[in-house]
Amino acid sequence: MSEAAPPLFPVFLDLRGKIVLVVGGGAVAKRKVASLIEAGAEVWVGAPEFDESFEELALARRIRIIEGSFEPAWLDDKAIWLVIAATDLRDVNEQVAHAATARRIWVNVVDDIELTAFHMPARVERGPLQIAISSGGAAPMLARHVRETLETQFDDAYGALAQLFQALRSQIRGAFPDLTRRRAFFDACLQGEALHLLRSGDAPAARAAILALVSAQQTLTPVGRVALVGAGPGDAGLLTLRALRLLNLADVILSDQLVSKEVLALARRDADVIFVGKKGGAHCTPQEEIHQQMLAHARAGKLVVRLKGGDPFVFGRGGEELQFLKAHGVAFEVVPGITAAIACAAYSGIPLTHRDYAQSVRFVTAHCKLSLDTLDWHALAQERQTLAVYMGVSSIAIFQAQLLAHGRDASTPFAIVENGSRKNQRVITGRLGSLAEVSARAQVQSPSLLLLGEVTQLAHELNWFGLAEQLL
Ligand code: SAH
Repeated sequence: MSEAAPPLFPVFLDLRGKIVLVVGGGAVAKRKVASLIEAGAEVWVGAPEFDESFEELALARRIRIIEGSFEPAWLDDKAIWLVIAATDLRDVNEQVAHAATARRIWVNVVDDIELTAFHMPARVERGPLQIAISSGGAAPMLARHVRETLETQFDDAYGALAQLFQALRSQIRGAFPDLTRRRAFFDACLQGEALHLLRSGDAPAARAAILALVSAQQTLTPVGRVALVGAGPGDAGLLTLRALRLLNLADVILSDQLVSKEVLALARRDADVIFVGKKGGAHCTPQEEIHQQMLAHARAGKLVVRLKGGDPFVFGRGGEELQFLKAHGVAFEVVPGITAAIACAAYSGIPLTHRDYAQSVRFVTAHCKLSLDTLDWHALAQERQTLAVYMGVSSIAIFQAQLLAHGRDASTPFAIVENGSRKNQRVITGRLGSLAEVSARAQVQSPSLLLLGEVTQLAHELNWFGLAEQLL
């Protein structure tokens, strides 16, 4: 499979009563036959000769034997849904694949990704719960490793729980016809004691615990709420566990444009993801619409995750959003995130403070004229401190001029970190005297953060992420 191949489309087939032809009479074919029988398929097996165990299966009427060398005519029978070629002869497998493809019958050729039309995944089975893993033939060993990891992560209690849910399915559906409430019930179940009871082998007690939860939850009216969540600077590894959990529970995600794709990919698949706000560098964004959306979804009983780049309380207008929610009686919580200054400093090897260079650090924003006019330039121009300037790309010339005018030395080093912590991170270094010029020459893009102060020279020594040559 070439690099550009699209991903496989995963499906689980219901093979009960459907005819599947397996070509091959050896050990590999036998394994496939066994799992097909387990899935309830009607299995036909064709080969010139067979291992003994096939006879037993035939006698027990579990399979039908076709003795002989493969002929395309075997596939003319319209009743066949699937074919598996499991011989150790490539040319026979090839014949099977071509004959099947010509007849629009799905074919799997064991261990041959070129010929195969459907792949058989590695599996973790826990009763009705099945996890299928495939690398599309790209890295079978990796898929195996993932399977082993999952095997240890999900014990048998999950299978027993799936069985219990299955048994109680209509009762649960009846109690919670509404999807959001049903989901809340299942979440409560998973956090409750049912799994624990199943682990200790007490299925009746687990069943009773679930039923008790059904009654308890039924009397609750759903209460929507908003979680203001910091998504960090981009690298998904910098999310907090709490943020990850909320992303997995969210009904609605109101996301800033700044949030990275990697982070959003971790969200619940069926969550409603709505992008709000403007890209970094934009002027003060009107908030009213975001406020109204949070309110509407929370009032509809949804769990709303308001997802913001970095930390929601650092230049994120998180405070205003919470004031609005508070005024409207909507419950909320806040999950901090790693703010751009902390992340950019870490990922460019710039300690924000250092005993030899800086005793303090200031987070400053420079996103519109008003905020620039009200900055205390005299304080910002002091030596032995670090400035972390957010949203400063467009006003970088003003920064340079004001800091110089207020006495900061033209030789003070700076680093501009573009796309901090992301794969395409760039670090541009220079001296205050030529800040605007260097930034323009490097064509700095948003999002980027300006770090200025004596500590930034350490980037040359301590840079560890990305390519050192990127230090311009
Ligand atoms: N709440 C966010 C900041 C929002 S303001 C936080 O705590 O990080 C948006 C500004 O943050 C951008 O203009 C840029 O200056 C900075 N920023 C955010 N993510 C960044 C990243 N990955 N790399 C560099 N700067 C970033």
